[in-house]
Formats: sequence, structure tokens, C-alpha cells
Amino acid sequence: MKLKRYKNIEHGKLPAIEAIVVHQTDAPTAQHTFNGYSAGGNGAHFLISKASEIYQTASMNMRCYHVGRLIKSKCLTLSSANCRNTAMTKILTMSWGARIKALDAHERAKSYPDRFPVNSDSVGIELVGKHLDDKTYEAVTALQNVSLQWLVNELNKHFSTTTSDVYRHPTVSYKNPGEASAAKWK
Ligand SMILES: [Zn+2]
Repeated sequence: MKLKRYKNIEHGKLPAIEAIVVHQTDAPTAQHTFNGYSAGGNGAHFLISKASEIYQTASMNMRCYHVGRLIKSKCLTLSSANCRNTAMTKILTMSWGARIKALDAHERAKSYPDRFPVNSDSVGIELVGKHLDDKTYEAVTALQNVSLQWLVNELNKHFSTTTSDVYRHPTVSYKNPGEASAAKWK
């Protein structure tokens, strides 16, 4: 593992690590992403190159913006029948734009693991890979998955997380459904 820290992608303290979110960069090389990180803004804590090298790109004590602004409802995703209550019924009658904002606010009132992870309780891992169309990304390579498995295992040992605390980005928020679909960590 190589340390290549970009302080411009760190945004305040990360008080706890309860989950891991796996991404693909939508860039052709690691260098494209490093160039973006130098400018600052969104980023993640680790990056796995096409050659399967692991870079730590941010401090584990610092928050990165990798999940996005609006999280999905974990309870709706897992079991919509058990998720119905007055608040949820009202939210589900809203238009799409209003609904995803209201769902996000509804979910953020819960704590993990009752909701999906957010930037303030999760680590992000980026795998270099481009999107192909609005539903698919290029495949995660076998070697990238070897590095991903090793890294997830180390993080799980260190932070007492388990494989059930590891999520693909599109599970958690509204993204291209193909992102990290070929990522394997178990
Ligand atoms: Zn992502």
C-alpha cells in the first residue's frame, strides 16, 4: 500500500467508522483521479489502480465526500412491507424529486445500521474503472478484487466492521447501477 494523501479531499473529522462503501472512479487511470483530488472536492480514502496497487488517499480520521448528498432508505430496500408507517406512507406519495429529499431526511434521523452509511461514518474505496453506459461500468479486474478483499479484510479487523457493513455505492445512493457491480470482497 502506498500513501498518497490529498488533504483537499478531507472535510473535517470522521468520528467513527462503521461501514465501507465501494466505488468505481469513472476515470481511465489512477492519475486522472489524483489530478481531481489535487483540486479538491469529492474523494475517498483508498484507491485501487488498474494494476491493483492500493493507495491511501486520505486520513482515516478525516471525512471524505464519497456517498453523495441523498441516501436511499435501507428499510425500503430490504423490506418495504416492514417499513410502512405514517411518515413513510406520506413520503411515498410525493413526486420523485421531493420524495428522494424527504427519504434522505427521514433516514438521517436514524443511526447506523438502521440506515445506510453516510460520509460521517464510513470509509470509501475507489476502484479505477470507467462507466460504459447509464447502466454499466467496465468490469472490476480479478487482480483489483484481490486487493479489494485484502483491504476490506484489514479494515474489518481494524474497525470491527464485517462484510455486511460493506456496500456498493449504488445500493446507498442514487448512482449508475453498474458502479462496482463486479466488485467482490468475500
Ligand atoms: Zn461512487
